[in-house]
Amino acid sequence: MEIDVLGSGSAFSVSRNTSSLLVTDSQQQRWLIDCGPTVPRALWQRDLSINDIEVMYFTHIHPDHCAGLPALLNRWKSFGRQAPLTIYCQAEHRPMLQQLTALATFPKAEIGFDIDWQDIHDHWTWRNWHLSSAATQHGQSNLSLRIEVDQRVLFYSGDGRPTPATINLMQNADLAFQECAVATSLADDASHGDVQSCLALAEQLDLSSLGLYHCYDEELPALTDAIAQQDNVFLSYDGLHIDLNATTPVIAQVQQHKLT
Ligand SMILES: [Zn+2]
Repeated sequence: MEIDVLGSGSAFSVSRNTSSLLVTDSQQQRWLIDCGPTVPRALWQRDLSINDIEVMYFTHIHPDHCAGLPALLNRWKSFGRQAPLTIYCQAEHRPMLQQLTALATFPKAEIGFDIDWQDIHDHWTWRNWHLSSAATQHGQSNLSLRIEVDQRVLFYSGDGRPTPATINLMQNADLAFQECAVATSLADDASHGDVQSCLALAEQLDLSSLGLYHCYDEELPALTDAIAQQDNVFLSYDGLHIDLNATTPVIAQVQQHKLT
């Protein structure tokens, strides 16, 4: 399983793309997780064909996680995509996402390929992938995602503070990404993660690699300091590429990328 960090920024970051992952398995089956406004250009910078992404997963529909959808679909339509697309989202979010889909082709309705809308469940399978979701604590319902494929486990929080259910999904993850807005402690009922709770989580679960992301720009220096002594926690960044099936440990891959 390979992970390409298309974006690692918060909603209004001036230096980073909005948070999104591209996940590719050993059979070149590819999912896009979230699609905020700056994600389409990040995708266009990659060497991908218009048919390469088979599935999109939306953790929730705050604009920084979904506003790139019409631009991406518009490109696929314009360049003649034919491969069917599956979109996983929460049932109550589907009508809003379908409006974005309509915007992609307006004033025409035809997009030229099939879109298979699917609700997110607690546990399900897609081909040889095993998926699980659980709600974080966030201002809008947000479903984090656990992916198991190629004998590896990836966890992606989307937005929001960890909950017992999402912490359960993080267990034994080879790589976990957790939203972490700030370097100061937030109240227990906050709708974002903070570094203290993330560090506690990394220790509690004995995680081998925990990537913090969706951080406020101005918090990045303090966050860098806060995790400096942790050998299993890192700050995610745009363009980070991790191969979970490589023999090189994740943290070493994170460091190598920074050096190149
Ligand atoms: Zn959000």
